[in-house]
Order: sequence, then C-alpha cells, then structure tokens
Amino acid sequence: MRDFQLALLTWYDAQKRDLPWRRSHDIYAVWVSETMLQQTTVAAVLPYFERWMAAFPTLQDLARAPRGKVERFWAGLGYYSRCRRLHEAARQVADQGWPRTSQDWTRLPGVGCYTANAVASIAQNETVAVVDGNVERVFARATCSDATGAALRRQAQAWADQCLHRERPGDWNQALMELGALVCRPRDPNCPVCPVASFCQSQEAGTQSCYPRPSPKPKVVELEHEIWIPVVGEAVGLRQSPEGEWWQGLWGFPRFADKTQLEQITLSREPRLIGSFRHTVTCHRISVRVSIVTPPTRSKALNWFAWPEVGQLALPAPQKRAWNLGRIALSWTDEPPGLKGEEDELVAGEQRKAVEAKRQDKGQDAQSIFAGEPLAASKVLPSPVALGSLGKETN
Ligand code: SF4
Repeated sequence: MRDFQLALLTWYDAQKRDLPWRRSHDIYAVWVSETMLQQTTVAAVLPYFERWMAAFPTLQDLARAPRGKVERFWAGLGYYSRCRRLHEAARQVADQGWPRTSQDWTRLPGVGCYTANAVASIAQNETVAVVDGNVERVFARATCSDATGAALRRQAQAWADQCLHRERPGDWNQALMELGALVCRPRDPNCPVCPVASFCQSQEAGTQSCYPRPSPKPKVVELEHEIWIPVVGEAVGLRQSPEGEWWQGLWGFPRFADKTQLEQITLSREPRLIGSFRHTVTCHRISVRVSIVTPPTRSKALNWFAWPEVGQLALPAPQKRAWNLGRIALSWTDEPPGLKGEEDELVAGEQRKAVEAKRQDKGQDAQSIFAGEPLAASKVLPSPVALGSLGKETN
C-alpha cells in the first residue's frame, strides 16, 4: 500500500493543476468549490468560482448577501437548490461557527457525505476518504470491479477508506480525483503515463475500457414547453418559480406545457412564435418554443421589468436563451430602451426592491455572468417582430 500511496502522491505533487481553491486551505473557498464541483467539471466551475469569490470573498459576505444576489451569481451552474442551501448553511455557520468534523458538516443544509469529507480532509486535515465519480472509475479499473450504481459507490468507499494516506488525507483525496480527471479518463485512460499502472489489474489484463461496468440508462422523457414573453410597451412580464416547480426561486417568462395556463397568466391568446430550442434537464429532453405576446394590459400575475433589467435577474439556462431570442426578435440591445425617469412607474413593490438591490450592487452585477448562452443551437425564426409593431401599454 505504501508504494501505491507514494507513487500517486509524488505524481500529484508534480502534476496537480493550479486551481484557485488549491492556493490556500481556506475552509470557505474549499467549501464553495466542492459545492460547485458536484456533478460538473472544473472547467465549467472556474469562471463561476472566480466571480463568486470576487462578490462574496468571505463567509460573512455570503451570509449577509440577499438571496436574489446569491442566486444571480449561481445562475447557469444548475442544481439551484444547492445554491439556496449553501446560502442557508453559510448563515448558520456565520452564527454558530465552523463545523469541526465531517460528521458536523453533514448537519448543515445541503452538505452530504462527499462535501463533508472533502472539506474536512482538504481544509481541516481530517482522515476521511472522499469518493466521487473519478474515484469510482479508478477503483473499478484498478480492481476489475463488476459493481454498478450504489454497490459500486459502497465498494469504492471501502477501498478509498483503506487506501487513505493518514498524514496527508486532503492531498490524497485530491490526488485520486485528479488521477481520474486527468489520466484515468472516462473514455480513453492514458495508462502509459499513469503513476499507478503497475498496481492496476485491468491494465494488466488489457480490459480498462470494460470498467466501470455500465449502469442501466434511465429512460429519457420527452417534453414540450411553451415560453411566452409578454410585452406591454417597454416592459416584459416574468414570474418567480414557486416551491415545487423546476428552478424554484429563479425568474422566468411564463413557461408551461398547457396553453390555457399561459393565456390566463399573460392575458393574451395570440402568441407570435420567434424561435425554438432543445434543453435537457436530467432525464428530461424538453422542446421549447418561444413566442412573444402583446396583451393590452399588464397581468397582475406577473412582475414587470424593463427589458435590460431581465439580464440582472437570476434566470435558468432555458430562460436566458428565451431572453436572447426575444432580444433579437424585438431588436432590443443591451442599451436600456426604458428606465429613464419612468422606472418607478414601471417597477412597483417587490420589483422596486429588486431594482434597488441591483443598483446597490452595480459593478459586480453587470458582469458577463448574465450574458446568456450562445444561440448556435437555437433556431431563430425569420421575420423578426419589430418593436414598433408590438402592443401599446394601456394601463
Ligand atoms: S493504469 Fe490505466 S486504467 Fe489503471 S488506473 Fe491507471 S489510467 Fe486507470
């Protein structure tokens, strides 16, 4: 075992990536990075992490920040409940102090075994082993394990517990995950440069590509959704997804599979289709059609914003794409067409608070985090609707 540990740690010390959260053992930075890294890649997380740490450099900054601002800096990373729980947990920690052990970490909202063990070992040097998809893959190949699913996770955890380097648990955990990310890659393991090749059973047998054994694929569910962008004058109507709906707490134009619901919410029956795209959420493949509606009055079921302000709200990815399609169709640019003196009339109650919060945060909030996704995969219909042809505000 010692030879195996020495080989991997020597390789890690020489080859590890220079990642911002590795530059210190700051508990807060490690916690944020490990929360963001769940079910996504380092490359995807890097820009979000940098912007997050610029906006909320300390635990106290995060704990004090309003929920809307925190969600905006997460928007686009997906798994939004994770962001809400991180914020909730930060408030608890700011109040009660840092957890001392992995077990304590799991008592915080949204912190599971993986995050607890990762933060406790990397930032607090606790001797607990971490298992993620990378470690599972290395384990399956190194031992020729036929396990899949939960059984694979259990076996990998037992193996990782046994292999754990007692003096350098944090580095060891990161070394195993780094090996899986850089060398023992999912499709093409780079065995010739692998530091632990001489300990690997599948490499010896030439069966690396057979492991891990494939899990049965979940059935893909096809869905069709309509997004309607209600426009009244220079204001657009959005709603916040309520509890129990996808993207809970985030903003979006009305989105339903059922047109009757859309008609009731937007007070309009004449959608003009402007584009369509596909979006995947876990095992759901959604065909999204985006239309503009121009009702005669502003529905009270919606919150009304000037068009450029929509970019300052926390929008999930498909709503950002709808927003971009709308901008093209309406020929609205990033330059605010409204909000010059009439913003108080436009924005009332809760919306006014959101605008005020945005003004206070001006600077960091205006970063490209809100720029939306490229439209390459979207289908923009010809004959864009000119702004002048849209309905006039009547109330
Ligand atoms: S030798 Fe190949 S299959 Fe085995 S752990 Fe290294 S990269 Fe993975």
